[in-house]
Amino acid sequence: MKRVVVSENNVAISRIEERCINCGMCLKTCQENNGFDHDCINCGQCILTCPTGALVPKYNYRQILNYLVDTSYQVMVITSPAVRVAIGEEFGYEPGSFLEGQMVSALKRLGFAKVFDTTFGADLTVMEEARELVERLKKKENLPMFTSCCPAWVDYAQKYLPEKRSNLSTCKSPIGMIGAMVKSYYADFADIPRDKIILVALTPCVAKKQECAEDENVDFVITTRELAMMIREMNIDFKSLKAMAYDKLLGKGSGAGLIFGSSGGVTEAVLRTAYYLLNQEEAPQDFYNLIIFRGEKDFKEAVIDMKKLKLRVAVVNRPITIKEKKQLLDNFDFIEVMTCPGGCIGGAGQPLNAINKMTEIRAKRSKALYQNDCENNLKNSYDNPEIKEAYQTYIQKGKVKLHRKNKNLIKS
Ligand code: SF4
Ligand code: SF4
Repeated sequence: MKRVVVSENNVAISRIEERCINCGMCLKTCQENNGFDHDCINCGQCILTCPTGALVPKYNYRQILNYLVDTSYQVMVITSPAVRVAIGEEFGYEPGSFLEGQMVSALKRLGFAKVFDTTFGADLTVMEEARELVERLKKKENLPMFTSCCPAWVDYAQKYLPEKRSNLSTCKSPIGMIGAMVKSYYADFADIPRDKIILVALTPCVAKKQECAEDENVDFVITTRELAMMIREMNIDFKSLKAMAYDKLLGKGSGAGLIFGSSGGVTEAVLRTAYYLLNQEEAPQDFYNLIIFRGEKDFKEAVIDMKKLKLRVAVVNRPITIKEKKQLLDNFDFIEVMTCPGGCIGGAGQPLNAINKMTEIRAKRSKALYQNDCENNLKNSYDNPEIKEAYQTYIQKGKVKLHRKNKNLIKS
């Protein structure tokens, strides 16, 4: 067997058989990233290295174009951090151009009734995950705690690390978090029946198509490249668009939420809030520039002084690294795992580029996210005013579920 197997039931990836030259690049990529030659965790990295374009994401954007002209629904969209630093590549901008406002403008022009920011969802994940980490540290149970926002990693862990299932965080991913909030908090606020909302997640990721097929709130997932296809098909001149702001209530994200798009970003974000929860004071300045966790290295580790305790932290890229370091995992308290090289900025739904330029391009996308965090006055998820309001008026009243239902994952 020279190629990866793509089953007909795969909701994330498909193969156009006429284009396949049986070169074996997809299998090589899968072996190098994930360490196996069968099964599929839907990361889609094979799409980025297939030389003939035979492997593609399962496209959903045409269904959305149909909903956008159906007046019986309100079609809303949530946008992941990594899309705004890559969408420009489709329209001749330099990689790493930060085009958040133009992206929002394009989505409004396409007819989306509301444009919300998944960075708000990332802030919610930070709040819940930091609290969960502090509780586990106090009880000394289910450590190390693994992050759970990458669905391809969660799939891998369920299949290949069954003994560690209860170590996964029970938090929903940022898309899962904000999806639940749109269909409850926002629906109640705007007095819209939830079944009249069609919710679309715009992401750099094809594995999210699988995650959301099992999610009751997110109806469709489209990738960065699918957004570019929609913009072109609707004859929108992206370069001439004036920047617009996100819609309020679920439209504000912190710098911590934004860096979720890059490997090490979830860790940096969670540590800021965990420090605050442990000590009731803001983390020292060096927590806002944890260079040790940044970049594409497959295994990054450090012991972080949290004042009340020392936290042993690892940041992992690619599941094969987990396989290689399996014996070391119990030496840590917190482990972030992202399937794609460099994290979500290197997701399989991002613009295609020459393979030999991809490392450099991912570095530019990542730099743009960190630059924005650096310039943002709002750096902590717990300081986000929309997050505070959501907790006070809704979440603390128990009106929404932000943790996973999957019984395997809530053993703890
Ligand atoms: S990389 Fe593309 S062309 Fe090569 S075997 Fe895989 S699907 Fe076929
Ligand atoms: S690292 Fe990000 S883009 Fe890649 S599979 Fe995981 S969630 Fe998707």
